[in-house]
Amino acid sequence: MKRLRTFFRRHVLWVVFFAVAIPLASILALQYRSLSKLEKTSTVAEKVWMKNYLGDVTKEVKYYYRTTAEQVLNVPAAAITGERLRNSRHLFGKCEAKGAKSLFIVSFASPGESEIFFYKPSGRGKIIEPPLAELRAANVAAAPLKMLSEERTPVQTTTVTTDERDLENRIIMKPITDDSSQVVGVAGMIIDNRYFREHYLPRAIQNSLPKFFPDDAQDNVIVTVHDGAGQLVLATQPVKGQDNETWMPVPYFQDWRIAIRSRDMTPEQWAHWNFNFNLALSVALTVVLLGGIALALRTVSHELRLSQMKTDFVSNVSHELRTPLSSIRVFGEFLKLGRVAGPEKVREYGEYVETESRRLTQLIDNILDFSKIESDRKTYQFERADVAEVVGATLKTFDVQLKQHGFGVDLRLPPGRLPVAVIDSESIAQALMNLLDNAVKYSGESKEITVRLGHRAGFITIAVTDRGIGIAREEQGKIFEKFYRVGTGLVHDVKGSGLGLALVEHIVKAHRGRVTVESEGSGRGSTFTIHLPATEGLGGHAETPQSAPILSGDSTFRFDLKR
Ligand code: ADP
Repeated sequence: MKRLRTFFRRHVLWVVFFAVAIPLASILALQYRSLSKLEKTSTVAEKVWMKNYLGDVTKEVKYYYRTTAEQVLNVPAAAITGERLRNSRHLFGKCEAKGAKSLFIVSFASPGESEIFFYKPSGRGKIIEPPLAELRAANVAAAPLKMLSEERTPVQTTTVTTDERDLENRIIMKPITDDSSQVVGVAGMIIDNRYFREHYLPRAIQNSLPKFFPDDAQDNVIVTVHDGAGQLVLATQPVKGQDNETWMPVPYFQDWRIAIRSRDMTPEQWAHWNFNFNLALSVALTVVLLGGIALALRTVSHELRLSQMKTDFVSNVSHELRTPLSSIRVFGEFLKLGRVAGPEKVREYGEYVETESRRLTQLIDNILDFSKIESDRKTYQFERADVAEVVGATLKTFDVQLKQHGFGVDLRLPPGRLPVAVIDSESIAQALMNLLDNAVKYSGESKEITVRLGHRAGFITIAVTDRGIGIAREEQGKIFEKFYRVGTGLVHDVKGSGLGLALVEHIVKAHRGRVTVESEGSGRGSTFTIHLPATEGLGGHAETPQSAPILSGDSTFRFDLKR
């Protein structure tokens, strides 16, 4: 149980991540399944919808001609007998037969012989010489009813029928029956193909569109009508794209076919596009969500790490403060009680007290400066200065500490003079002190430190090299973070605040420079280099040798900067 708790505490971020990621992945999988189902059903639905539209148009056409015929061709049997048929001008119903070329009456009143008269679509006024083709078509259409009349077979219903044998003269007709249901004649109309094609059909097609397709979708469908010969009769838009269309025969024009298709995509393509689009949206959403969570977790993890580092910092700093303080107190007491034999020992203890107090001062300076940086209060006094001079002075202040630890420092200067730089000498000295302090702390058994001054590509460089424990490559990017301390290997034993390099970086950046680190890895030593922008003009040191070994092999440090 305890192990489980520890595991959760340690991997809490991963646990949270997976706790969100797994349900998200399941939702995505469900979404995928439902989308692919939707893809299939929406293809069918789209086709059914298109068919419904065509059904609506054809129903309109059927309704229009049927009601017109029912109203106009409503001729009573009495009206077509004898003289009345020849003279009457008002045989037909009240409506005008819009969409008809002509109306006609065939009378079977005289046995063995039928009479046929043609009228204008208004029903008022005869057509004396009807076109032969119309005459023939009307006679052919009426022939079956004539036969019924001759056989005296009664008809039960007098519904409207059609005859499309002559494609140019399609006929809608209705039998005229007497009281005993005997057929006495036929009233008919010959459909005006041109009116149907140019006026009625386009209107019917347009009227039905809004019922099935929203405004913006209407442009995406093309409705076409082809005649029996396959010729295009009309199209709502120039025909292009997929042939995959839904079609139906046109009522009263049974050889024609009315069809609908999508302009850009077939229903299958549309459904597939929709599927891909929705899936991409869901994936994008998931990625954004996971990214957001990862970012949030990263921030939390960073904060946790920072808080852990702060805790370590407090304990490290307390230790850093306590150790030198107790030594100082012990040496102070020895001196006070006169327990130190000989001036040599007094000098040694005095030096120790001085170094430890200097270290304490440096630590406290670092902390104070760091707090100033954090609250944006750190200011710099920039002046033209000779970097070599600043480096020399810093090494001089540091010599007692170096000597105590048995270190030798080799200061190497470039040939010729260094250019002048505009720097805050005190801050640069503080940065260099921190680098030197680290070089001492992390040198392990090795006791050699090299400080190289150089001038490269408009920058003055100060490089501090040690031959100590080195820094693993993956740690090199992190060591400049505040409070960060490498937590493995030998470094464990060395105390520190984790502020030194953060401070160095801040100071150098304030000078528009940069600080870099090179290390081959564990046990191979490290080189920290400060790069400061150089300005015009030359600095101090003149005939300094290219390499100036400053320290002798033993523990004595000789600082020897020639001017
Ligand atoms: P501190 O030295 O007080 O821990 P710094 O910010 O100065 O803090 O350094 C951060 C970390 O970088 C150190 O804890 C150490 O692990 C590593 N480091 C710094 N300088 C060196 C060096 N010269 N050699 C090896 N490791 C170093």
